[in-house]
Amino acid sequence: MTVRTRFAPSPTGVLHLGSVRTALFCWLYARHRGGQFILRIEDTDRERSTKENVDAILDGMAWLGLDADEGPIYQSERLDRYREVIDQWLAEGKAYHCYCSKDELDELRATQKERGEKTRYDGRCRDRQTPEKGVDPVVRFKNPLDGEVIVEDQVRGRVVFQNTELDDLIIARSDGAPTYNFTVVIDDHDMQISHVIRGDDHLNNTPRQMNMLAALGATPPAYAHLPMILGPDGAKLSKRHGAVDIRAYRDNGYLPEAMLNYLVRLGWSHGDQEVFNVDEMIRHFDIADVNQSASSFNAEKLRWVSQQHIIEAPVERLAQELVPYLEAAGLDIAIGPSPAEIAEGFRERAETLSQMAESARYCYEDFDAVDPKAAKKHLRPVILKPLRAAKERLAGLEDWSKIAIAEAIDDVADEFELSLGKLGQPIRIAVTGGPVSPPIDVTVWLVGRERVLARLDHAIEMIAARAAANAD
Ligand code: GLU
Repeated sequence: MTVRTRFAPSPTGVLHLGSVRTALFCWLYARHRGGQFILRIEDTDRERSTKENVDAILDGMAWLGLDADEGPIYQSERLDRYREVIDQWLAEGKAYHCYCSKDELDELRATQKERGEKTRYDGRCRDRQTPEKGVDPVVRFKNPLDGEVIVEDQVRGRVVFQNTELDDLIIARSDGAPTYNFTVVIDDHDMQISHVIRGDDHLNNTPRQMNMLAALGATPPAYAHLPMILGPDGAKLSKRHGAVDIRAYRDNGYLPEAMLNYLVRLGWSHGDQEVFNVDEMIRHFDIADVNQSASSFNAEKLRWVSQQHIIEAPVERLAQELVPYLEAAGLDIAIGPSPAEIAEGFRERAETLSQMAESARYCYEDFDAVDPKAAKKHLRPVILKPLRAAKERLAGLEDWSKIAIAEAIDDVADEFELSLGKLGQPIRIAVTGGPVSPPIDVTVWLVGRERVLARLDHAIEMIAARAAANAD
């Protein structure tokens, strides 16, 4: 069997974490099984679908590398096909016109409520022969009146629905517009979808869709309903929990593969492995390993996963990805280290690319003042002489290389019988303005001779002034 999966977002909203997780599972399963992945834009709701949302979806998918073998296919371009099936079902008696007015339906609902019954359409127009004058009818599907629908869900297991619980679904509105549950069925059938993988908020639609597939004479696809993603507060993940549009994560400096890695672990696991590259995800992903219980979004873990991918990415790629973030931080690449040099130097301690760009600011720009706490602790009179000596050694270096810099600092530390840290930390603070940076030789090398010497001078003056004040 050829595996064919589809991701079918409605462009009534942007692409968010939950929908990306669904898209990813569909894509991975198709790739894992050597099948095809189809992107279908479910834009039949003309009022709520927007071009901006379609763009957000396509843009997000492209950024993440979730490439489709077919599509985007727009439902709005398939209206003729839906009309054809509706007409056919009307002719075959599988669907019927319903003329019930809103008032009539409200009344029905109220009576059912009063009697403590489940509210549902009672099929009163099923056998109606004559149209109601001046009323544009909706079209309803004749759902079987008895029996059960069994969903053998690949995640949830067997779920049984009674047909008596389901009513006759509206498949076309009075203006002729087809409805969601119907178009999904026609498309899944026409597009020969083998596996429907989607959020479990759609589980209740499944028996209705299976009944309609049966009316088409089709065998239903396999279904896999994915457990919810919860926010940190235990409620379903939503706008309230921060970034909605997946592109906000791009803007905040996450690598696409890090997003995929983080999301793949929401509801799926492979032993206790946490870090996956895309090839590994494809190799190991299987619906059989999707768990049934909901998972929670954890921003801290996302940052950790992101950091792992930054550490592992090839430096040229990282450099290329970093450029827009350096620019966004307002840093002029022409007057400092190259993006590749920054990537190499900073990759061990950056959780995101924007954080990396921000931490590298002192390589391009002077800082206003040294962090006072770090200065108080490390820029003390005892370090004055060693710092002067270090400055002289660095000033005299013929070759501004990491090796030469490391040697110079080592020598000065030896000369003053200081541990490397005791000398390295004051140099770091003088040169970067703060206590955290890449290894000291790398830091000094990246900041560059001119800036290093000037900043050391400045620190030396500061300490000398402090020493003089203490002596008074
Ligand atoms: N268009 C539906 C949605 O965005 C998904 C339909 C499906 O996957 O069957 O929720």
